[in-house]
Amino acid sequence: GFYYGYRSYKNYKWYQEITESDEVIGSKPRIVVLGSGWGAVPLLKHLDSKKYEVVCVSPRNYFLMTPLLPSVSVGTVETRTVIESIRSLVGPRVKYVEADCVDIDPKSKTITCNSDGANPVSRGDDVKAIVKSSKREGGASSRIIKDSARSRPQFQMKYDALVVAIGSENNTFNTPGVEEHAHFLKEVLDARRIRSAISDAFESANTPSQTDEERKRLLHFVVVGGGPTGVEFAAELADLVREDLHHYFPRLVANDVKITLIEALDHVLSMMDKQISDYTEKHFRRENIEVLMNTFVKEVKQREVVIQFKGSNQLTSIPCSVVVWATGIKARPLTNRIREIIGLKVQSNRMGILTDRYLRVKGVEDGSIFAIGDCATIEQPKLVDQIQTLFEEADTQHRGALDLQQFKLLVERKVAEFPQLDIFSKTIEKTFQEADKDKSGFLTLAALHLALEKADRKIRALPATAQVASQEGRYVADLLNQIPNLSANDYQQHDLKPFRYKHMGSLAYVGSDSAVLDFTGTRPILDLFNLQPLSGRSAAYLWKSFYFTEMFTGRTKTLLAFDWIRTHLYGRDISR
Ligand code: FAD
Ligand code: MG
Ligand code: MG
Ligand code: MG
Ligand code: MG
Repeated sequence: GFYYGYRSYKNYKWYQEITESDEVIGSKPRIVVLGSGWGAVPLLKHLDSKKYEVVCVSPRNYFLMTPLLPSVSVGTVETRTVIESIRSLVGPRVKYVEADCVDIDPKSKTITCNSDGANPVSRGDDVKAIVKSSKREGGASSRIIKDSARSRPQFQMKYDALVVAIGSENNTFNTPGVEEHAHFLKEVLDARRIRSAISDAFESANTPSQTDEERKRLLHFVVVGGGPTGVEFAAELADLVREDLHHYFPRLVANDVKITLIEALDHVLSMMDKQISDYTEKHFRRENIEVLMNTFVKEVKQREVVIQFKGSNQLTSIPCSVVVWATGIKARPLTNRIREIIGLKVQSNRMGILTDRYLRVKGVEDGSIFAIGDCATIEQPKLVDQIQTLFEEADTQHRGALDLQQFKLLVERKVAEFPQLDIFSKTIEKTFQEADKDKSGFLTLAALHLALEKADRKIRALPATAQVASQEGRYVADLLNQIPNLSANDYQQHDLKPFRYKHMGSLAYVGSDSAVLDFTGTRPILDLFNLQPLSGRSAAYLWKSFYFTEMFTGRTKTLLAFDWIRTHLYGRDISR
């Protein structure tokens, strides 16, 4: 009763909204959003559809809960739990078209879209991916259904404002063999393929005639990249082996299974606090995960990876079967295309599309294009580039020097524009005294320069995380909802605040029911928990669901709860 009641209530609401918006079609400005991921969804959810006609274009008609992907790759969590139909997430008030955007014309404000595009997540490439995986796995899933009935012409679409939220691609650093022989862990298909490959490795190793050497190779799993994704995957894999496979393949697990994590730097999780890296490395050693630091992968072959230790020019080959590549991200072709169209002189950042602090793409004069998430980088102006103006503005009495009060005011007034000044806000007097070398009580231009240089060194691009993307998406929605109309693009005049990121801490699941948290730079109350490994995988999920509340729908939570109970009672499903 409740269920049907709820369903019809939801439909009733949607029905109302549709009829209402149909009447005014064409009279509202159209906002086109590219993508259906972490940046796009909060934006789509919060954009005012009474004010705008909202259209989402993405080759993927679902949202993917990436933080749970490592769990999917070993079967702790089921595939359907981590994806949510874009239509059910945002409702029919947002129009959705399944296609790749392939080109943009900022002059005529038109995008060109292709449904058979070259994007790795488009359906066309899924087919190729299945062919590839079936070759690797010995043809177990070689049946491919050709979509011959499908007919989707290329089309163009006008926009009044465009938001680019197309995410990023895996970076292979041009290492030979990665595309062909390693697994990525970015899309749901990747996770399914990894799961199947692990199962395949165990079944092959279990074949009676297998040689010792070949069995050891088959059961050697290599993870490349010691960031959160690589670490979490290695941890989940170790759990799978210890908790489940160990029952079914006791001899293989006792004698032959090996997990190796390879990291080019001298620490895993190097973006987190040093103590967290240390904890993780120690924990992994206890878990029998071998961690090779300062090690580069030079090539991936079908049955081995070729590595090189830092400072040595000798290549070592290690036999293995499944290789998971999680070394980082790079810009998508469309991201680079957009940078080229606008001009590489303005768009000089190779990591992504450069935006101002309102997340508007630099070099688009009318401010009609926004970019958020992994594909975008916010320009952070340097203080020292504007030192003269800053100094003169602060030196109200034209003394050619600033006193403490004037320096304080400078920091207070400019911190919104130059967030790097934040490092001074608590230590302003100390900073002043340090900069005032001759103890005159005044800062000269040169002394100010030295002090501000220190702040500039703190400039860091925001990390490519779901936390950042979703906050940016929400921000652009609020911004567009607030402005009187799309041509009112002098935001300062309208008293609109630039984007500011609030870091809510980071978490990584490190296996055998523990997770490491890094709350550095967050609210002091949270510092109480700082570096306390929470126990329980439940705690890890809880934390993730805590900071991603909005994306964890009731449905996801229900499915997750069931996955959990199932895994707890019956173990993971280890068939492919
Ligand atoms: P995405 O979420 O990747 O969305 C991009 C969207 O654009 C997709 O829907 C895609 O289909 C679509 N698209 C692609 N090309 C086109 C095109 N040409 N035209 C139109 N649409 C297109 N972050 C955290 O903060 N915490 C975590 O615990 C965490 N864990 C992670 C675990 C894994 C395994 C991975 C891979 C990532 C994880 N991240 C995590 C990072 C996080 O997923 C990304 O930073 C986030 O997805 C970025 O959001 P986005 O919207 O920029 O891109
Ligand atoms: Mg997105
Ligand atoms: Mg996503
Ligand atoms: Mg992404
Ligand atoms: Mg970004």
